[in-house]
Amino acid sequence: MTYLAVPISGENVKKAKQQIKTAKVAGAELLELRTDYLEELSTSVVETLIKACRPLPVIVTCRDVAQGGARAYPSLLRVGVLAAAIYAGAEFVDLEYENFLPAQNQEKILVALAKHSRTRLILSVHNFRTRFESITRINRDILSVYPAAIPKLVYTANHINDCFEAFDLLRQSGGERIAFCMGQAGLISRIIAKKMGSLVTFASIDDKSATAPGQLTIEELKETYRFDKIDSDTELYGVMGSPVGHSLGPVVHNKCFSKMRANKLYLPIQLDGGKEEFETFMQKIIARRWLHFRGFSITLPHKQNALSFVRKSSGVIESLAAKIDAANTLLVDRHGKVSAYNTDYAGALEAITSTLKITNAKLAGFNVSVIGAGGVARAVVAGLSDTGATITIYNRTVERGRNLADEFDCDFKPLDELPGINAELLINCTSIGMHPDVKHSPLSKKYLRKGMAVFDTVYNPAQTLLLKSAADKGAKTVDGLSMFVSQAGAQFKLFTGQQANTRFMRKTVSDCMARK
Ligand code: NAP
Repeated sequence: MTYLAVPISGENVKKAKQQIKTAKVAGAELLELRTDYLEELSTSVVETLIKACRPLPVIVTCRDVAQGGARAYPSLLRVGVLAAAIYAGAEFVDLEYENFLPAQNQEKILVALAKHSRTRLILSVHNFRTRFESITRINRDILSVYPAAIPKLVYTANHINDCFEAFDLLRQSGGERIAFCMGQAGLISRIIAKKMGSLVTFASIDDKSATAPGQLTIEELKETYRFDKIDSDTELYGVMGSPVGHSLGPVVHNKCFSKMRANKLYLPIQLDGGKEEFETFMQKIIARRWLHFRGFSITLPHKQNALSFVRKSSGVIESLAAKIDAANTLLVDRHGKVSAYNTDYAGALEAITSTLKITNAKLAGFNVSVIGAGGVARAVVAGLSDTGATITIYNRTVERGRNLADEFDCDFKPLDELPGINAELLINCTSIGMHPDVKHSPLSKKYLRKGMAVFDTVYNPAQTLLLKSAADKGAKTVDGLSMFVSQAGAQFKLFTGQQANTRFMRKTVSDCMARK
């Protein structure tokens, strides 16, 4: 059993009661009374709030400032509050392990527990800076001092690769225990706490009431990350890159997994660093088959790192990914074998052909201008050159543009020659026009004309200034959302073996962008 706990951090009884009410409605399974947030702390206030939490079970905590507490209450009062909570029937009280060690504190708590054996004692250790020197040793020490304790070990992950020690502890230790990581890099440990069997994971009512760095809201955990459906067999997927905070992948893929009732969960995997960090992450997940990682969407800056990792580990590389020299999708099988794919290529072609209602063969006669020479441009150029289209690449950095043109046997022109284009299809593969840069366009309206088709790979916003200008001039337009949905649909098929419902995907993405 993993409780979804919501911390109650109101500074007075009225505010705390409001939070309790909201948390109950939002679906909290356990409430943590963070009594250190109260402006006026007394045992009677705590008893009142415990009653307000009913019928939900409750953890009473009065955190020491040294371990993240909000107010500097004296030790005697903090321990007194916890003893009173035990007498009042709280299901759990949480005391810092360090503060349990002094004989007078220990005696007070143990006497109360002896009288009310229903309450369980959580002994917690926090490291707000970094990993513990040895998380297993601390766990052992806690249990040797008080074998009936529920150890709670929480530390800041400065990189996603720091999370694995928490996973290992949960995997290796039996009984009830709590372990996860704080900070953005520790996010996945909060989401998969239920899969890993941590007794509790914490989520806040809203962004403002979070009590620790990296805490998700209860809505995110339940709606986006399928908390109610997660179990120990849940297969894991995710978008790997830096940054991934803005990615629509988790919302889209999790909604689709949910629709097909698949026991699968898609995570945001913020993977900072380069090739070395990427390889470390992959080695760690492959060494821990019990995590059940099965696939990844790969985004900047790791598309080439992904391909090189698969090459190094003698995995299978789909010919398109090899040709583009970048992978945007990885699969990991049950034996840890990895394979690489690129769905950007098919996604771009599908977006063009389905929107313009033409076949791939028809593209052979097209005169196409591509702006940009980065990752997306590579996939677009590879796809179009396969159809036999005549392509000219325009790029700011001449060398990069020329190299791409040489590789795919196309023409190259510097960006300042763009106003003279005479293309039937113009494709923007740069980030110009992407949120928040929405007032910019890679090409002024005066150079756009009727009879031309314009494809903008930027999908946030879907209607970029370039596309609006093109539509005003009577040109046909293809938006980046179509490409996003097509490539995500192809990934979904790789992840599940089933055809994606791209109409449902597009609606999910549009709804999500409208809410932002
Ligand atoms: P990338 O590898 O970093 O390449 C960016 C390209 O844009 C480079 O050619 C760069 O030119 C050019 N560029 C950036 N800022 C510019 C500026 N101010 N002026 C002129 N050129 C500029 O990025 P990517 O992975 O190819 O992604 C590019 C865009 O594609 C993203 O921003 C995103 O909007 C879109 N995208 C769409 C989808 C989809 O499914 N629809 C998927 C992924 C990405 P230099 O070579 O001179 O640096």
